[in-house]
Amino acid sequence: MRIVIVEDEKDLAALLAFQLEKEGYRVLTAHDGSSGYDLVSRELPDLVLLDIMLPVVSGIEVCKLLKKQKSTQGIPVIMLTAKGEEIDRVIGLEVGADDYVTKPFSVRELLLRIKVALRRSGRGGDEEQIMVMGPVAINTGRCLVTVSGVEVVLTTTEYKLLCALAESRGRVQTRDHLLRHVWEHHSGTDTRTVDSHITRIRTKLGVCGDFIKTVRGFGYKMEGE
Ligand code: CA
Repeated sequence: MRIVIVEDEKDLAALLAFQLEKEGYRVLTAHDGSSGYDLVSRELPDLVLLDIMLPVVSGIEVCKLLKKQKSTQGIPVIMLTAKGEEIDRVIGLEVGADDYVTKPFSVRELLLRIKVALRRSGRGGDEEQIMVMGPVAINTGRCLVTVSGVEVVLTTTEYKLLCALAESRGRVQTRDHLLRHVWEHHSGTDTRTVDSHITRIRTKLGVCGDFIKTVRGFGYKMEGE
């Protein structure tokens, strides 16, 4: 499950991203309304957490735009509102938001609302999603990777990279694409970073390391049925 957070308070955005990733969600972040709208339109996530007071374009406007646009209107939106902001359920419904939480909120409360919104939109499915490629199993609910039942300890980045490959197994993914998805264009990363992480994942997967194929001149591909 992929969640886009649009929140200009960078500390809060980072904290939420950390908590959600711990729960097995993949998170992308934007810090103003305009880039948030672009990010959601481009990535088509499973859910959007949208702050109301945002620079450039307000969360209300972003929500209206997303709910108007065919490709994004089915994506559930949870508004993050500050105490004292006059958004209430009525306004939320007017702009098409699916739910809202008032700051300060507990992470537990937010996670619950996320699960409910995902389930309502038909994206919840099973709590535990397990991708199996031969002896390799990735439990995305628990962020757990095993080879023949033995846990493989990966860093967060290695885990995200492995998931990106596994989700599109059988298809070639370019280094640029992987950089965009896993590192979100953070400066200081180039395509060689992808290579060095792949090398480490292969080593950690041991006998299954060669499940990740190098496609010369393009990128990588995960084998799998
Ligand atoms: Ca704000």
